[in-house]
Amino acid sequence: MSAELIKIDKNDPDQEAIRRAGEIILAGGLVAFPTETVYGLGGNALDPHASEKIYAAKGRPSDNPLIVHIADLAHLTPLVREIPPSATALSERFWPGPLTMIFEKSPIVPYETTGGLDTVAVRFPSEPVAAALIRAAGGYVAAPSANTSGRPSPTTAQHVAEDLGDAIDMILDDGPVGIGLESTIVDFTQDPPCVLRPGYISLTDLEEVLGLCSMDPGLTGENAQVHPKAPGMKYRHYAPKALMTIVEGDRDAVISRINRLAAQAKAEGKRTRILACEENAGFYPPELCVCAGSRAREETIARHLYEKLREFDELGTDVIFSEAFDTPRLGTAIMNRLVKAAGHRVIHADGSDMAEKDTV
Ligand code: AMP
Ligand code: MG
Repeated sequence: MSAELIKIDKNDPDQEAIRRAGEIILAGGLVAFPTETVYGLGGNALDPHASEKIYAAKGRPSDNPLIVHIADLAHLTPLVREIPPSATALSERFWPGPLTMIFEKSPIVPYETTGGLDTVAVRFPSEPVAAALIRAAGGYVAAPSANTSGRPSPTTAQHVAEDLGDAIDMILDDGPVGIGLESTIVDFTQDPPCVLRPGYISLTDLEEVLGLCSMDPGLTGENAQVHPKAPGMKYRHYAPKALMTIVEGDRDAVISRINRLAAQAKAEGKRTRILACEENAGFYPPELCVCAGSRAREETIARHLYEKLREFDELGTDVIFSEAFDTPRLGTAIMNRLVKAAGHRVIHADGSDMAEKDTV
């Protein structure tokens, strides 16, 4: 690995390390850093060559725009044409935090950063290391998730090192992230504002501030003619190498169908695993079961989901049968990622939906 890995503590960030990391970005280099959602891969958002480097390092399709990260509310104005009052209200409530907002871009934002679009996505993260780095790097840091495109997003510095260690200059390591799923994206170029990617901040949270807020109809993947508005949401994503099937339905029926499917796959010689919540783990063969977290504490499932999806690759896995984690607050965001990781293979436990959708 050629990237320098530096341990850093969010409660007392090493100012010298932050200064050096900022200089790397200002000089056109790339630094991976922790945010409250996932690890990001940072480059100067106003430098077209830095954005090109980010795409190359990740193997990211060039039409998939980058989010510009700021660490000062005053830095939003120069990036955008106008800020609707509803966006100001949302920023007052949720920034700094896991919220990204999309606006018409100003001329200072290069098309290399926005994937050719006339709009720009902006986020103000709350994690102190991220904020300090953004300030040290001049205030505008383009930062997609610091993973190889298509793989699960990184929630530890080790995940970043595995994917990008040879392609970037530095990794700031502040241990595992807190939230574990990427930010909620809200598009303010349409009225009412529209959620392009569900995240930790739920539709209910947004509606409390905005009144009306819609959900991108392209997100469900139900109608192949309706594409998601965020270019990144159309790609297969978050995916382990194994073929994953999600089984939804009543608890007992799910447990029994997963057990039957897993036994059958095992009998066929496939390396088989089960992804289950803590509450149900005892009902599956322990040697097959990977625990995603607790349904009663749904934030644990969000936090560990990507780590578990990566674990399947490390263990060597051919097929995965997963429970559906449609929990009350974070279920929409968790299932959005899980269904994509499964390439939309979702079946019903009672067998009523035997047509396994495969849209990969
Ligand atoms: P990542 O940073 O890897 O979590 O991905 C960023 C997500 O934001 C991708 O799904 C992008 O397609 C989406 N995104 C970024 N900028 C825009 C934009 N201007 N319009 C729509 N979606 C965007
Ligand atoms: Mg990503």
